Amino acid sequence: MTRISDLLQAGRTFSFEFFPPKNDEAQVALTRAIVELEPLAPSFVSVTYGAGGSTRERTRDLVVQMRRETKIPPMAHLTCVGHTRAEIQDIIGAYVEAGVENVLALAGDLPADGTDIPPSDYVYATDLVEHLRSITDMCIGVAAHPEGHPRSPDRATDRRHMAAKLQMADFATTQFFFEVEHYVRLVNELADLGCTKPVIPGIMPVTNLSQVQRMAAMSGTEFPSWLHDELASMKTPEDVRRAGVDAATRLCAELLEANAPGLHFYTMNRSTATREIYAELGLPVT
Ligand code: FAD
Repeated sequence: MTRISDLLQAGRTFSFEFFPPKNDEAQVALTRAIVELEPLAPSFVSVTYGAGGSTRERTRDLVVQMRRETKIPPMAHLTCVGHTRAEIQDIIGAYVEAGVENVLALAGDLPADGTDIPPSDYVYATDLVEHLRSITDMCIGVAAHPEGHPRSPDRATDRRHMAAKLQMADFATTQFFFEVEHYVRLVNELADLGCTKPVIPGIMPVTNLSQVQRMAAMSGTEFPSWLHDELASMKTPEDVRRAGVDAATRLCAELLEANAPGLHFYTMNRSTATREIYAELGLPVT
């Protein structure tokens, strides 16, 4: 079984996100992480895509490699900003040929520095989902933003677009967040709009305070002051890392208690934090 929609129907999924390595050193780190994470027998892994196609070949190569060389089903991220419909069709054709069955359909972001990107046949992720549905029967996931997307005027507007997008897709995976209430509110508000498809929470263990603060600011995620204070009071980077893993473990336990259909770990191409959380939660390792 390699379609994520089937896996979700059969039970909870535990999955990992990787990004394509930029150089040989990064490749070595990623290979090590994959080897160390394989015994955790993830339900699936996902590979990010550089908006505008900056990692087009590297994403495809890693996804196809996971499909051919491991038993773990891969999901390819695909952003549509800066792509034509013909390009998307080519990219999807290569995945179908390689037997890849899952795609995460995303808008992507325009470059913050104003760099020109190629013309685009799409504006929103829903445009991409619509096109993908017409050319492939791959399982399609979409992104969800528990605290609302930073470009949305308000949460209610964001939720309406989110519900319409998720209705066309098979499931959603969320942006990372640090308090269970954000996830529960997202799921309840989507249900109020008639959308009850699975929403898998994304988990980002804090291993480096300033790095996560930067990422949270960019994605519109609140970095709670209690977590900041707890981590800032640590004496060494290793203490920060351990406290970050503890906080992520507590969040995972609360999400499982709240009936989340799975957990998706942002691994940052490292294995330690995810392995520690698995051990703390008592999840099986082969
Ligand atoms: P959309 O669903 O298009 O939403 C973007 C904004 O448009 C929102 O404010 C939404 O409310 C609004 N909107 C949607 N539809 C409409 C409409 N019809 N009319 C008016 N407004 C509308 N980025 C990458 O570059 N590569 C990746 O691999 C990647 N992976 C990600 C994985 C996850 C799980 C998540 C949560 C994000 C990921 N991102 C990635 C980031 C993502 O591309 C950005 O958050 C982007 O700004 C929004 O993408 P989206 O697919 O949610 O967009």
